[in-house]
Amino acid sequence: MPSDHRLKLTNTLTRTKEDFVPEDASNVRMYVCGPTVYDYAHIGNARPVVVFDVLNRLLRHLYGADHVTYVRNITDVDDKINARALRDYPALALNEAIARVTQKTADQFHADVKALGCMEPDFEPRATQHIAGMIEMINTLISRGHAYQVAGEVLFDTASMPAYGELSRRNLEDQMAGARVAVDAHKKSPGDFVLWKLSSGDEPGWDSPWGRGRPGWHIECSVMSAHHLGPVFDIHGGGLDLIFPHHENEIAQSCCAHGTKLMAHYWLHNGFLQVEGEKMSKSLGNFITLHDLLETEKVGGRKWPGMAIRLVLLMTQYRQPLDFTEKALEEAEGLLEKWDDLLARAGVTATAGAEPATEFLEAMVDDLNTPRALAVLHGLAREARGGDTASAQALADALVFLGFDLADVRRAVDAGRPAAADPALAARVDALIAERNAAREAKDWGEADRIRDLLAAEGVVLKDTKDKATGLVETSWEMAQ
Ligand code: AMP
Ligand code: ZN
Repeated sequence: MPSDHRLKLTNTLTRTKEDFVPEDASNVRMYVCGPTVYDYAHIGNARPVVVFDVLNRLLRHLYGADHVTYVRNITDVDDKINARALRDYPALALNEAIARVTQKTADQFHADVKALGCMEPDFEPRATQHIAGMIEMINTLISRGHAYQVAGEVLFDTASMPAYGELSRRNLEDQMAGARVAVDAHKKSPGDFVLWKLSSGDEPGWDSPWGRGRPGWHIECSVMSAHHLGPVFDIHGGGLDLIFPHHENEIAQSCCAHGTKLMAHYWLHNGFLQVEGEKMSKSLGNFITLHDLLETEKVGGRKWPGMAIRLVLLMTQYRQPLDFTEKALEEAEGLLEKWDDLLARAGVTATAGAEPATEFLEAMVDDLNTPRALAVLHGLAREARGGDTASAQALADALVFLGFDLADVRRAVDAGRPAAADPALAARVDALIAERNAAREAKDWGEADRIRDLLAAEGVVLKDTKDKATGLVETSWEMAQ
């Protein structure tokens, strides 16, 4: 049953924020371009995965979990994969080497995004499972006059589609002006793109009416999305860089093959992520993979909890550029620790499927305004600190709604506390903090200082933070470095 909250999404097709109206509210359909599996996913790749995971959760809340179909593919046919296979497994037959690279990378991707709290999509098709469908779609495009065979390739004929360029708002003249004619001499128009290309003996290939070859990247998504969601579906997502040429070309193929005006009604694109204010690149040495953050000590000399990474990715609205910094990671980790502490003190656990606080949901349905939603959580935390258990409950429920695994947060908090291994010490420190609080309430400053010094002598550092709104002081502690 659709909820009362009206979802608004910014549609790249129209460049406006629109009311979201699904074709069929009993089956809301979303496709997101997934990873090309040849290397570790980097923190930029994680952004669309987390953003569309949050949208998936929101859609499930609004329309019912059984009424949403979320598809995210795995691109396991790509020349970058072949190159990696040759490099990493020179002794193996190429097929075997490719299988190793794609399986290992896909497994790592799954482990990484699971650590970030992402649900699995309902379907995760792999390009290699859909080659027959691709050959069929290419055949249709040729027979309808939208594709031609030349120089060992089948190309899409962009001039055959008057609406080509609508998503990216590029026209054929723009492309002509920028094209280097010599390179593209075999193409009818410089923007024509590969649907199928022949493979040489040692390259991976499948038999087709045009010879043994392999598909281009764009046709993969047109076929996999149609297979699971039909020729026209509701939402298509990915990063900003995919608008052109990838999504433009998906639209061209799908609309021309199916004879439809649209491929998807709403096209959503996340903004790009930078690292410490700079474009992330291997040559700048600021290239960060999820594996680096989660499993190694490459960033800041330590491992980072997946939940803190998730929070950093949600602190910025998905369409905005995001600056990923170590400081933001620390801030996110500190926030989760504070919230975990509050929830533990209030003794609340989240209720799965609970209706979240209205203000929170209003921010979420407003084009996934996660920073505004997080501001609502700050307010709830303030009230919870003042003793309001209902607010603590709302905070827990909203965190779970956003995909935070509270047990995971607790484990990360415990792991970050050196004394966690020593519960006796933790209990003693907590008891002394309580005594110190009582002394302070009684304005017995001498006693309060004595307790602080006593703990300091044992290497326990107390930190008091005053909540500006409530005036309440909260004391946390850590072991001196
Ligand atoms: P790729 O494997 O390069 O096709 O990228 C997979 C997904 O990650 C696509 O949706 C890209 O748009 C997205 N992506 C790649 N780099 C970044 C980045 N720096 N910031 C945000 N999204 C990115
Ligand atoms: Zn795609």
